Amino acid sequence: MAEKTFSRRNLDFTLFEVLQVSELIQYDYFKAHDTETFGFTLDIASDIARQIMAPAFTDSDRKQPDLENGQVNVHSSIHAFINAFSEAGLMAAPFSEEWGGMQLPKVIAAAAEFIMGSAHNSMVMYSDLTKGAANLIYTFGNAEQKAVFLPKMLSGEWMGTMCLTEVQAGSSLSDVATSASPQADGTYLIKGQKIFISAGDQM
Ligand SMILES: Cc1cc2nc3c(=O)[nH]c(=O)nc-3n(C[C@H](O)[C@H](O)[C@H](O)COP(=O)(O)OP(=O)(O)OC[C@H]3O[C@@H](n4cnc5c(N)ncnc54)[C@H](O)[C@@H]3O)c2cc1C
Repeated sequence: MAEKTFSRRNLDFTLFEVLQVSELIQYDYFKAHDTETFGFTLDIASDIARQIMAPAFTDSDRKQPDLENGQVNVHSSIHAFINAFSEAGLMAAPFSEEWGGMQLPKVIAAAAEFIMGSAHNSMVMYSDLTKGAANLIYTFGNAEQKAVFLPKMLSGEWMGTMCLTEVQAGSSLSDVATSASPQADGTYLIKGQKIFISAGDQM
């Protein structure tokens, strides 16, 4: 199924001939890469899409997550995907080597996600939300926050979400009312209500 959902020939043409992504390796940050490692990354994404994601598409749609003893259970294929995605290094791929990443250009990481999203877009939500949350910590977090969260998130052990929407604030994010009050022990007391949080809880 994954082969039918995208054209590798068209993707390669867009990346290597139109965008000329191979020129990126002239930059120091990407010096460990070449055209072959870019292609290899896309091959791995295709394998995961074909072997894990596409075969689970119908069953995971029919067997929706359920709530059991206050815990959300998701389809087992989500775990298989996260494990394969993380073990292949794709969760950490665009991040710096300092944090176990590959310093892969984001355009190649995005192309890999496009391949996987074409096979099962809902699954890619889990990895995308985690990478987005990790990137927030990577960009704005202090040293302690980075040390606590990044290794676990970039290895796929911990997941991330995006908690924006509230009952009274969907598109209008200037209306969000949730507050975070700093506590004496360095933690924050969060008061408010969030809804529609994709990948907000999963076992
Ligand atoms: C499957 C799913 C997953 C989601 N996952 C997440 C998540 O992970 N994290 C998260 O924070 N949120 C998530 N959301 C929430 C999503 O981001 C909100 O539903 C979205 O922001 C729209 O808000 P709303 O539903 O309150 O609709 P409203 O903002 O009330 O919009 C209702 C209608 O009014 C229109 N409208 C709104 N504002 C304007 C405007 N200024 N001008 C013209 N028209 C307008 C909209 O187009 C829409 O048709 C998810 C939603 C869904 C359905």
